[in-house]
Parts: sequence; C-alpha cells; structure tokens
Amino acid sequence: MTSQIKEKVMAELFAKRQIAIERANFFKQKALENAEYKALDKTERALVFDIAKNEAESKKTTELSKQLDEVKAKKVGVLNKLKISENDLIPHFSCKKCNDTGFVGGEPCSCFKERLNYYLADSNSDNLADFKGFKDFNNDNLTKVKNFLVKWATEKNYNQILLCGKTGVGKTFLGECALNELKKQGKSVLKVSAFKMNELFTKFHTCFDYERADYLDGMLNADALMIDDLGTEPMKRNITKEYLYLLLNERKEANKLTILTSNLDLEGILKVYEERIFSRLADKKSTKCILIEGKDLRFNK
Ligand SMILES: [Zn+2]
Repeated sequence: MTSQIKEKVMAELFAKRQIAIERANFFKQKALENAEYKALDKTERALVFDIAKNEAESKKTTELSKQLDEVKAKKVGVLNKLKISENDLIPHFSCKKCNDTGFVGGEPCSCFKERLNYYLADSNSDNLADFKGFKDFNNDNLTKVKNFLVKWATEKNYNQILLCGKTGVGKTFLGECALNELKKQGKSVLKVSAFKMNELFTKFHTCFDYERADYLDGMLNADALMIDDLGTEPMKRNITKEYLYLLLNERKEANKLTILTSNLDLEGILKVYEERIFSRLADKKSTKCILIEGKDLRFNK
C-alpha cells in the first residue's frame, strides 16, 4: 500500500517544517530578550493595527506609515547589534512552492510526489554519480561515451539512450552522470532498477484501489527516467513486457527522456523482449544505442 509511504513522506515534511519554524522562533525569542527590541516590536504592532484601522475608515495613513518605517529601521539596527540577521527571524522552508506542507491548492506538491517516487523506486536522486568523478576511468572509449552524453544532456537530440555492455564497463556510472546533468538543469529525474520497475508493474497490475496509479506515476511522469540493468528482472507473464512497452511508448509520446542500461545488446533485447519493445529501442531516430565492449565501442549510426 502506498498510504504508509505517503504518511512517511508527510512526517518527513512536517519535521522539516517544524525545524524551520523552531529555528526562526529561537532567533525571535533571542531578539525579544532585548528590552529595546521588545519595545520597538510592541510599537510596530500598535502602528500596524492603527494603519489598518485608518485604512478601514478611509483615513490618511501617511504619517503612521512613516513612523512604521522608522520603527522597522530601528529594529534592524538593534538586530545588527545583537548579531541577528532579519533573515534569521523568518522560517526558511526547503520547498518554496508548498512551504513544506506537501500541498499546493489542495493538490500534492511536486516535492511530495518526488519523495514518494523515491521511496517507491527505492532510489535517491541525491546520490547520483557525477561526471566530475570521471577521471577514475581513464579509458578512451568511455571518454567518447562521456563526451557524447554531456552533449546529449544539453541538446536532447534523442529521447532514449541505450547503454549496452557487460557488467563493470561503466554503463550505470555513465547513465547516472547523464541523469545528474539533467537534474542540474532542474528536470525531475528518477532512477529505477529494472528489478524494482518490474515490482512496481506487478503492484500496479495486482492492485485495485485508488492508489494504484502511484506505482507508475513516477516512472511515467519524471522528465528523465533511468532504467538500470534491463534484462535482469524476472519475466512475468502479462506484466513485464506489456508494461515496459506501455512505459516506453507513453514516455516517447510525451517527449520525455529515458536512459536504459543493459547487459544485453540489441540482438539480446530482441530475443528477450520481442519485436514490439525491440523496435522501440532500435529506432535510430529516437534512440542512441551505445555498445561498450571492453576495447570496442559501437554507436548505432
Ligand atoms: Zn513542495
């Protein structure tokens, strides 16, 4: 059930929000311990009240507003002496859209959905590999792939990138780096193992409550999705191939970016996933397939 995960995300957000509020309150209390600041604060509130009253009665507020500005400036002066910045008095929430409440206008906020997806997909986009760590590879072939991916992350001239090659050639690392580049551009990204993806397909397929859409939402809607290690998941009848096709198709239609890594080459993919999925992945217009094989490197042309 996704409701437990939702509760967990809500609790996380609530804790974040509380910390931000408590921090601001701490500094507010500290400032109010100063008698001069406390007096100015009282005057400020009285002025704000009077201004509102005058406005309601359509009376002039010019003089009061001037006084209010003066009081505010004096408060800042006292704060400076106390080495407290004005900024410290305001809670700073990590999500500016929802102020860490998780909701905007009654709808779940993007930060909420993102956290939910990370729990569902069992992955955290904060720990993605970065091209900065690339120097460790020191291999001409991988440098070519890296250069290609850096350019692709900017140009996005293909919807799909398929990185093929045996275990340990660096596919996952390179895929993650490319995903990270897209994240740095502000895209919503999600990395999911093929195994986990298959689990989410299964849950969606076997679940019949209103929450079932949660299982696929993240994979369908992320601006950039990475499916790692395609071909390692157990093939489930009526599920694996069917939902993978649906996922790839929907994402392509929506012009979203998908990075796939696999130990299989295109021939292997045809054998395991059959024609429909193969043609989605072998389509040269939309997909760049890169085969990394030890010293050999092949780009589909
Ligand atoms: Zn938010």
